[in-house]
Amino acid sequence: MEKDIKCPLYKKCGGCQIQNLSYEKQLEFKMKKVVGLIGRFHHVEDIISMDNPYHYRNKVQAAFGRDKQNRIISGVYQSSTHKIVPVDDCLIEDRKADEIIVTIRKLIKSFKIKTFDDNKMTGFLRHVLVKRGFSSGEIMVVLVTGEEQFKSKRSFINALLQRHPDITTIVQNINNRRTSLVLGNKSIVLYGEGTIKEQLCGYTFSISPKAFYQINPVQTEILYNKAMEFAEISKDDIVIDAYCGTGTIGIIASKYAGRVIGVELNKDAVRDAKNNAKLNGIKNIDFVCADAGKYMVGLAEENLKADVVIMDPPRAGSDINFLKSVVKLSPKKVVYISCNPETLKRDLTYLSKNKYKIRKIQPVDMFPHTEHVECVVLMSRV
Ligand code: SAH
Repeated sequence: MEKDIKCPLYKKCGGCQIQNLSYEKQLEFKMKKVVGLIGRFHHVEDIISMDNPYHYRNKVQAAFGRDKQNRIISGVYQSSTHKIVPVDDCLIEDRKADEIIVTIRKLIKSFKIKTFDDNKMTGFLRHVLVKRGFSSGEIMVVLVTGEEQFKSKRSFINALLQRHPDITTIVQNINNRRTSLVLGNKSIVLYGEGTIKEQLCGYTFSISPKAFYQINPVQTEILYNKAMEFAEISKDDIVIDAYCGTGTIGIIASKYAGRVIGVELNKDAVRDAKNNAKLNGIKNIDFVCADAGKYMVGLAEENLKADVVIMDPPRAGSDINFLKSVVKLSPKKVVYISCNPETLKRDLTYLSKNKYKIRKIQPVDMFPHTEHVECVVLMSRV
Protein backbone atom coordinates (compact mmCIF):
# COMPACT_ATOMS: atom_id res chain seq x y z
CA MET A 1 0.00 0.00 0.00
CA GLU A 2 1.16 3.54 -0.74
CA LYS A 3 2.03 5.59 2.30
CA ASP A 4 -1.08 7.35 3.57
CA ILE A 5 -1.47 10.45 1.50
CA LYS A 6 -3.28 13.50 2.72
CA CYS A 7 -5.47 15.54 0.42
CA PRO A 8 -5.22 19.36 0.57
CA LEU A 9 -8.93 19.64 -0.26
CA TYR A 10 -10.02 17.31 2.55
CA LYS A 11 -12.12 19.86 4.43
CA LYS A 12 -13.53 21.78 1.47
CA CYS A 13 -14.60 18.86 -0.70
CA GLY A 14 -16.30 16.62 1.84
CA GLY A 15 -16.10 13.57 -0.41
CA CYS A 16 -13.63 11.64 1.75
CA GLN A 17 -15.03 12.08 5.24
CA ILE A 18 -12.35 10.04 7.01
CA GLN A 19 -9.29 11.07 4.99
CA ASN A 20 -7.74 12.35 8.19
CA LEU A 21 -7.30 8.76 9.43
CA SER A 22 -4.58 6.40 8.24
CA TYR A 23 -5.97 3.54 6.11
CA GLU A 24 -5.52 1.13 9.02
CA LYS A 25 -7.52 3.42 11.29
CA GLN A 26 -10.21 3.82 8.65
CA LEU A 27 -10.66 0.06 8.57
CA GLU A 28 -10.90 -0.02 12.35
CA PHE A 29 -13.50 2.76 12.22
CA LYS A 30 -15.60 0.77 9.72
CA MET A 31 -15.29 -2.46 11.67
CA LYS A 32 -16.42 -0.72 14.84
CA LYS A 33 -19.40 0.73 13.06
CA VAL A 34 -20.50 -2.66 11.70
CA VAL A 35 -19.86 -4.54 14.95
CA GLY A 36 -21.70 -1.82 16.90
CA LEU A 37 -24.75 -2.06 14.68
CA ILE A 38 -25.06 -5.75 13.79
CA GLY A 39 -22.43 -7.54 15.86
CA ARG A 40 -25.12 -8.93 18.16
CA PHE A 41 -26.51 -11.08 15.33
CA HIS A 42 -23.27 -12.91 14.59
CA HIS A 43 -19.49 -12.67 14.66
CA VAL A 44 -18.30 -10.09 12.11
CA GLU A 45 -15.44 -11.23 9.84
CA ASP A 46 -12.50 -8.86 9.40
CA ILE A 47 -13.23 -6.24 6.78
CA ILE A 48 -11.71 -6.99 3.37
CA SER A 49 -9.45 -4.04 2.66
CA MET A 50 -8.28 -2.69 -0.69
CA ASP A 51 -4.65 -3.44 -1.60
CA ASN A 52 -4.12 -0.03 -3.14
CA PRO A 53 -6.89 2.20 -1.82
CA TYR A 54 -6.27 5.09 -4.23
CA HIS A 55 -7.60 6.13 -7.65
CA TYR A 56 -10.27 3.43 -7.54
CA ARG A 57 -13.21 5.45 -8.90
CA ASN A 58 -14.00 4.45 -12.47
CA LYS A 59 -16.58 7.23 -12.82
CA VAL A 60 -15.54 10.86 -12.40
CA GLN A 61 -17.73 13.91 -12.59
CA ALA A 62 -16.66 17.56 -12.70
CA ALA A 63 -18.80 20.71 -12.64
CA PHE A 64 -17.59 23.60 -14.80
CA GLY A 65 -17.84 27.28 -13.92
CA ARG A 66 -15.84 30.44 -13.20
CA ASP A 67 -14.07 31.70 -10.09
CA LYS A 68 -14.19 35.27 -8.75
CA GLN A 69 -11.42 36.30 -11.15
CA ASN A 70 -13.54 34.88 -13.98
CA ARG A 71 -11.09 32.04 -14.66
CA ILE A 72 -12.53 28.74 -15.85
CA ILE A 73 -12.60 26.13 -13.08
CA SER A 74 -13.72 22.53 -12.85
CA GLY A 75 -14.24 20.36 -9.83
CA VAL A 76 -16.73 19.27 -7.21
CA TYR A 77 -19.42 21.18 -5.35
CA GLN A 78 -18.37 22.08 -1.84
CA SER A 79 -20.45 19.87 0.47
CA SER A 80 -24.05 21.14 0.69
CA THR A 81 -23.31 24.30 -1.34
CA HIS A 82 -23.28 25.26 -4.97
CA LYS A 83 -19.70 26.54 -4.92
CA ILE A 84 -17.23 24.68 -7.10
CA VAL A 85 -14.02 23.53 -5.39
CA PRO A 86 -11.40 23.29 -8.17
CA VAL A 87 -9.95 19.78 -8.50
CA ASP A 88 -7.17 18.78 -10.89
CA ASP A 89 -6.36 15.42 -9.44
CA CYS A 90 -8.13 13.50 -6.75
CA LEU A 91 -6.72 10.65 -4.67
CA ILE A 92 -9.66 8.36 -5.22
CA GLU A 93 -10.53 9.19 -8.81
CA ASP A 94 -9.13 7.48 -11.88
CA ARG A 95 -6.00 9.39 -12.96
CA LYS A 96 -6.77 9.19 -16.66
CA ALA A 97 -10.26 10.61 -16.13
CA ASP A 98 -8.83 13.53 -14.17
CA GLU A 99 -6.30 14.21 -16.95
CA ILE A 100 -9.07 14.28 -19.56
CA ILE A 101 -11.06 16.77 -17.50
CA VAL A 102 -8.04 19.09 -17.18
CA THR A 103 -7.49 18.84 -20.95
CA ILE A 104 -11.12 19.79 -21.60
CA ARG A 105 -10.76 22.80 -19.32
CA LYS A 106 -7.74 24.00 -21.30
CA LEU A 107 -9.43 23.28 -24.63
CA ILE A 108 -12.62 25.20 -23.90
CA LYS A 109 -10.50 28.22 -23.10
CA SER A 110 -8.71 28.08 -26.45
CA PHE A 111 -11.97 27.33 -28.28
CA LYS A 112 -13.67 30.21 -26.40
CA ILE A 113 -16.44 27.84 -25.32
CA LYS A 114 -18.48 29.28 -22.45
CA THR A 115 -19.07 27.51 -19.18
CA PHE A 116 -22.64 27.27 -17.94
CA ASP A 117 -23.87 29.76 -15.34
CA ASP A 118 -26.29 28.00 -12.99
CA ASN A 119 -27.78 31.25 -11.71
CA LYS A 120 -28.43 32.92 -15.05
CA MET A 121 -29.06 29.57 -16.74
CA THR A 122 -26.95 30.63 -19.72
CA GLY A 123 -23.72 29.39 -21.28
CA PHE A 124 -22.65 26.02 -22.58
CA LEU A 125 -20.49 23.46 -20.75
CA ARG A 126 -22.03 22.41 -17.45
CA HIS A 127 -20.40 19.14 -16.41
CA VAL A 128 -18.01 16.55 -17.75
CA LEU A 129 -18.49 12.91 -16.86
CA VAL A 130 -15.83 10.32 -17.60
CA LYS A 131 -16.32 6.56 -17.22
CA ARG A 132 -13.47 4.13 -17.73
CA GLY A 133 -13.52 0.37 -18.00
CA PHE A 134 -10.57 -0.74 -15.86
CA SER A 135 -10.27 -4.15 -17.51
CA SER A 136 -11.36 -3.18 -21.03
CA GLY A 137 -9.49 0.13 -21.13
CA GLU A 138 -12.48 1.74 -22.89
CA ILE A 139 -13.19 5.37 -22.01
CA MET A 140 -16.42 7.36 -22.34
CA VAL A 141 -16.53 11.15 -22.12
CA VAL A 142 -19.91 12.83 -21.61
CA LEU A 143 -20.08 16.59 -22.19
CA VAL A 144 -23.14 17.93 -20.38
CA THR A 145 -24.23 21.15 -22.00
CA GLY A 146 -26.90 23.76 -21.31
CA GLU A 147 -27.95 23.86 -24.94
CA GLU A 148 -27.80 21.58 -27.95
CA GLN A 149 -26.06 23.83 -30.45
CA PHE A 150 -22.33 23.07 -30.20
CA LYS A 151 -20.22 25.41 -32.26
CA SER A 152 -16.90 24.14 -33.59
CA LYS A 153 -18.03 20.69 -32.46
CA ARG A 154 -15.94 18.73 -34.97
CA SER A 155 -12.70 20.55 -34.33
CA PHE A 156 -13.24 20.36 -30.56
CA ILE A 157 -13.73 16.59 -30.71
CA ASN A 158 -10.71 16.17 -32.95
CA ALA A 159 -8.56 18.25 -30.61
CA LEU A 160 -9.70 16.17 -27.62
CA LEU A 161 -9.07 12.86 -29.42
CA GLN A 162 -5.68 14.03 -30.57
CA ARG A 163 -4.67 14.65 -26.95
CA HIS A 164 -6.31 11.47 -25.64
CA PRO A 165 -6.46 8.89 -28.44
CA ASP A 166 -7.56 6.23 -25.93
CA ILE A 167 -11.04 7.81 -25.59
CA THR A 168 -13.42 5.33 -27.23
CA THR A 169 -16.66 7.32 -27.22
CA ILE A 170 -17.84 10.91 -26.74
CA VAL A 171 -21.45 11.80 -25.92
CA GLN A 172 -23.15 15.18 -25.61
CA ASN A 173 -25.90 15.26 -23.02
CA ILE A 174 -28.23 18.24 -22.89
CA ASN A 175 -29.34 19.44 -19.49
CA ASN A 176 -31.08 22.83 -19.63
CA ARG A 177 -33.12 22.50 -16.48
CA ARG A 178 -32.62 24.04 -13.07
CA THR A 179 -31.63 20.86 -11.27
CA SER A 180 -28.91 19.36 -9.16
CA LEU A 181 -28.95 16.23 -11.33
CA VAL A 182 -25.92 16.06 -13.60
CA LEU A 183 -27.47 14.41 -16.65
CA GLY A 184 -30.45 15.61 -18.69
CA ASN A 185 -32.76 13.43 -20.77
CA LYS A 186 -31.32 13.90 -24.24
CA SER A 187 -28.00 12.37 -25.35
CA ILE A 188 -26.32 12.70 -28.74
CA VAL A 189 -23.43 10.41 -29.63
CA LEU A 190 -20.61 12.52 -31.09
CA TYR A 191 -17.97 9.82 -31.50
CA GLY A 192 -17.86 6.03 -31.13
CA GLU A 193 -20.71 3.83 -29.89
CA GLY A 194 -22.11 5.89 -27.03
CA THR A 195 -21.42 3.11 -24.53
CA ILE A 196 -18.35 1.34 -23.17
CA LYS A 197 -17.86 -2.31 -22.35
CA GLU A 198 -16.31 -3.60 -19.17
CA GLN A 199 -15.45 -7.06 -17.86
CA LEU A 200 -16.38 -8.23 -14.39
CA CYS A 201 -16.02 -11.77 -12.98
CA GLY A 202 -15.52 -13.10 -16.50
CA TYR A 203 -18.60 -11.43 -18.04
CA THR A 204 -18.92 -8.40 -20.27
CA PHE A 205 -21.18 -5.49 -19.37
CA SER A 206 -22.21 -2.54 -21.46
CA ILE A 207 -22.24 0.79 -19.63
CA SER A 208 -24.27 3.74 -20.91
CA PRO A 209 -23.96 7.36 -19.68
CA LYS A 210 -26.89 6.98 -17.26
CA ALA A 211 -26.61 3.35 -16.20
CA PHE A 212 -25.72 2.51 -12.62
CA TYR A 213 -22.47 0.59 -12.39
CA GLN A 214 -20.41 -0.10 -9.29
CA ILE A 215 -17.71 2.58 -9.03
CA ASN A 216 -14.90 0.47 -7.56
CA PRO A 217 -14.39 -2.42 -10.00
CA VAL A 218 -11.52 -4.04 -8.06
CA GLN A 219 -13.52 -4.40 -4.85
CA THR A 220 -16.76 -5.18 -6.71
CA GLU A 221 -15.26 -8.46 -7.95
CA ILE A 222 -14.30 -9.34 -4.40
CA LEU A 223 -17.77 -8.42 -3.13
CA TYR A 224 -19.62 -10.40 -5.79
CA ASN A 225 -17.36 -13.42 -5.38
CA LYS A 226 -18.09 -13.34 -1.66
CA ALA A 227 -21.82 -13.19 -2.38
CA MET A 228 -21.48 -16.25 -4.70
CA GLU A 229 -19.42 -18.13 -2.10
CA PHE A 230 -22.12 -17.46 0.53
CA ALA A 231 -25.00 -18.33 -1.79
CA GLU A 232 -23.60 -21.81 -2.71
CA ILE A 233 -26.00 -22.01 -5.63
CA SER A 234 -26.59 -25.42 -7.17
CA LYS A 235 -27.70 -26.43 -10.65
CA ASP A 236 -31.42 -26.80 -9.88
CA ASP A 237 -31.78 -23.65 -7.84
CA ILE A 238 -34.12 -20.82 -8.70
CA VAL A 239 -32.32 -17.63 -7.74
CA ILE A 240 -33.86 -14.19 -7.33
CA ASP A 241 -31.58 -11.20 -7.84
CA ALA A 242 -33.61 -8.45 -6.20
CA TYR A 243 -32.74 -4.78 -6.82
CA CYS A 244 -30.65 -6.08 -9.70
CA GLY A 245 -29.70 -2.81 -11.44
CA THR A 246 -28.12 -3.69 -14.78
CA GLY A 247 -28.11 -7.39 -13.93
CA THR A 248 -24.50 -7.90 -12.87
CA ILE A 249 -25.08 -10.17 -9.87
CA GLY A 250 -27.78 -12.25 -11.56
CA ILE A 251 -25.64 -12.75 -14.65
CA ILE A 252 -22.71 -13.90 -12.55
CA ALA A 253 -25.04 -16.22 -10.59
CA SER A 254 -26.55 -17.69 -13.78
CA LYS A 255 -23.69 -20.10 -14.41
CA TYR A 256 -24.29 -21.89 -11.10
CA ALA A 257 -28.11 -21.79 -11.14
CA GLY A 258 -31.02 -23.49 -12.86
CA ARG A 259 -32.82 -20.24 -13.39
CA VAL A 260 -32.35 -16.61 -12.33
CA ILE A 261 -34.95 -13.84 -12.11
CA GLY A 262 -33.74 -10.27 -11.74
CA VAL A 263 -36.13 -7.62 -10.38
CA GLU A 264 -35.52 -3.91 -10.73
CA LEU A 265 -37.65 -0.75 -10.61
CA ASN A 266 -35.71 1.41 -13.07
CA LYS A 267 -36.77 0.58 -16.61
CA ASP A 268 -33.55 1.81 -18.23
CA ALA A 269 -31.58 -0.48 -15.92
CA VAL A 270 -33.85 -3.41 -16.87
CA ARG A 271 -33.25 -2.69 -20.56
CA ASP A 272 -29.49 -2.65 -19.91
CA ALA A 273 -29.76 -5.88 -17.89
CA LYS A 274 -31.55 -7.64 -20.77
CA ASN A 275 -28.89 -6.41 -23.19
CA ASN A 276 -26.15 -7.58 -20.88
CA ALA A 277 -27.67 -11.07 -20.68
CA LYS A 278 -27.81 -11.18 -24.48
CA LEU A 279 -24.26 -9.87 -24.77
CA ASN A 280 -23.07 -12.85 -22.70
CA GLY A 281 -25.34 -15.38 -24.40
CA ILE A 282 -27.16 -16.25 -21.17
CA LYS A 283 -30.45 -18.09 -21.58
CA ASN A 284 -31.50 -19.02 -18.04
CA ILE A 285 -32.15 -15.47 -16.84
CA ASP A 286 -35.16 -13.13 -17.02
CA PHE A 287 -35.48 -9.55 -15.89
CA VAL A 288 -38.67 -8.02 -14.57
CA CYS A 289 -39.34 -4.31 -14.21
CA ALA A 290 -41.22 -4.00 -10.92
CA ASP A 291 -41.04 -2.91 -7.34
CA ALA A 292 -39.11 -5.74 -5.69
CA GLY A 293 -41.51 -5.88 -2.73
CA LYS A 294 -44.63 -6.08 -4.91
CA TYR A 295 -43.06 -8.63 -7.22
CA MET A 296 -42.13 -10.86 -4.31
CA VAL A 297 -45.65 -10.59 -2.87
CA GLY A 298 -46.94 -11.83 -6.24
CA LEU A 299 -44.56 -14.79 -6.23
CA ALA A 300 -45.52 -15.67 -2.68
CA GLU A 301 -49.26 -15.46 -3.49
CA GLU A 302 -48.85 -17.78 -6.45
CA ASN A 303 -46.96 -20.21 -4.18
CA LEU A 304 -43.96 -20.15 -6.45
CA LYS A 305 -40.66 -21.20 -5.02
CA ALA A 306 -37.26 -19.64 -4.82
CA ASP A 307 -34.20 -21.37 -3.43
CA VAL A 308 -31.86 -18.43 -3.01
CA VAL A 309 -32.69 -14.74 -2.75
CA ILE A 310 -29.83 -12.32 -3.32
CA MET A 311 -30.80 -8.77 -2.43
CA ASP A 312 -28.86 -5.57 -2.97
CA PRO A 313 -31.19 -2.69 -2.06
CA PRO A 314 -30.32 1.02 -2.10
CA ARG A 315 -29.27 2.88 1.07
CA ALA A 316 -32.85 2.99 2.33
CA GLY A 317 -32.75 -0.79 2.64
CA SER A 318 -35.58 -3.14 1.84
CA ASP A 319 -39.25 -2.76 2.84
CA ILE A 320 -41.64 -4.73 4.94
CA ASN A 321 -43.58 -6.14 1.95
CA PHE A 322 -40.40 -7.50 0.51
CA LEU A 323 -39.26 -9.01 3.80
CA LYS A 324 -42.67 -10.55 4.50
CA SER A 325 -42.64 -12.16 1.06
CA VAL A 326 -39.15 -13.51 1.63
CA VAL A 327 -40.47 -15.20 4.75
CA LYS A 328 -43.50 -16.54 2.86
CA LEU A 329 -41.42 -17.80 -0.08
CA SER A 330 -38.94 -19.14 2.46
CA PRO A 331 -35.85 -19.67 0.30
CA LYS A 332 -33.12 -21.85 1.82
CA LYS A 333 -30.73 -18.94 1.76
CA VAL A 334 -30.84 -15.17 1.66
CA VAL A 335 -27.72 -13.22 0.75
CA TYR A 336 -28.06 -9.57 1.65
CA ILE A 337 -25.61 -7.07 0.14
CA SER A 338 -25.91 -3.77 1.90
CA CYS A 339 -24.31 -0.35 1.51
CA ASN A 340 -25.88 0.94 4.71
CA PRO A 341 -25.39 -0.98 7.97
CA GLU A 342 -28.15 1.03 9.69
CA THR A 343 -30.94 -0.16 7.39
CA LEU A 344 -29.26 -3.57 7.28
CA LYS A 345 -29.67 -3.77 11.06
CA ARG A 346 -33.39 -2.98 10.76
CA ASP A 347 -33.94 -5.62 8.05
CA LEU A 348 -31.86 -8.28 9.84
CA THR A 349 -33.87 -7.67 12.99
CA TYR A 350 -37.04 -8.58 11.11
CA LEU A 351 -35.63 -11.63 9.33
CA SER A 352 -33.91 -12.95 12.45
CA LYS A 353 -37.29 -12.92 14.23
CA ASN A 354 -38.94 -14.68 11.31
CA LYS A 355 -37.36 -18.03 10.46
CA TYR A 356 -33.91 -16.81 9.43
CA LYS A 357 -30.61 -17.22 11.16
CA ILE A 358 -27.64 -15.00 10.37
CA ARG A 359 -24.66 -17.22 9.49
CA LYS A 360 -21.97 -14.92 8.19
CA ILE A 361 -21.27 -11.20 8.12
CA GLN A 362 -18.51 -9.95 5.83
CA PRO A 363 -17.73 -6.23 5.53
CA VAL A 364 -15.90 -5.12 2.36
CA ASP A 365 -14.19 -1.76 1.91
CA MET A 366 -15.68 -0.55 -1.36
CA PHE A 367 -15.10 3.15 -0.75
CA PRO A 368 -11.75 3.82 0.97
CA HIS A 369 -11.39 7.24 2.65
CA THR A 370 -15.15 7.70 2.84
CA GLU A 371 -17.30 6.75 5.81
CA HIS A 372 -19.24 4.18 3.76
CA VAL A 373 -19.01 0.46 4.37
CA GLU A 374 -20.51 -2.42 2.42
CA CYS A 375 -21.52 -5.76 4.00
CA VAL A 376 -22.48 -9.17 2.65
CA VAL A 377 -24.63 -11.22 5.02
CA LEU A 378 -25.58 -14.86 4.67
CA MET A 379 -28.81 -16.04 6.25
CA SER A 380 -30.36 -19.46 6.16
CA ARG A 381 -33.82 -20.75 6.95
CA VAL A 382 -34.15 -22.43 10.33
N1 SAH B 1 -27.32 -5.03 -7.77
C1 SAH B 1 -26.96 -3.94 -8.63
C2 SAH B 1 -27.58 -2.59 -8.27
C3 SAH B 1 -27.72 -2.24 -6.83
S1 SAH B 1 -28.19 -0.57 -6.55
C4 SAH B 1 -25.45 -3.82 -8.72
O1 SAH B 1 -24.71 -4.31 -7.87
O2 SAH B 1 -24.96 -3.23 -9.68
C5 SAH B 1 -29.86 -0.73 -6.01
C6 SAH B 1 -30.86 -0.85 -7.15
O3 SAH B 1 -32.16 -0.97 -6.58
C7 SAH B 1 -30.93 0.35 -8.09
O4 SAH B 1 -30.71 -0.09 -9.41
C8 SAH B 1 -32.37 0.89 -7.92
O5 SAH B 1 -32.93 1.37 -9.13
C9 SAH B 1 -33.10 -0.34 -7.44
N2 SAH B 1 -34.33 -0.12 -6.67
C10 SAH B 1 -34.59 0.85 -5.77
N3 SAH B 1 -35.79 0.68 -5.20
C11 SAH B 1 -36.31 -0.45 -5.75
C12 SAH B 1 -37.53 -1.15 -5.55
N4 SAH B 1 -38.46 -0.73 -4.69
N5 SAH B 1 -37.74 -2.28 -6.28
C13 SAH B 1 -36.81 -2.72 -7.17
N6 SAH B 1 -35.64 -2.08 -7.38
C14 SAH B 1 -35.40 -0.96 -6.70
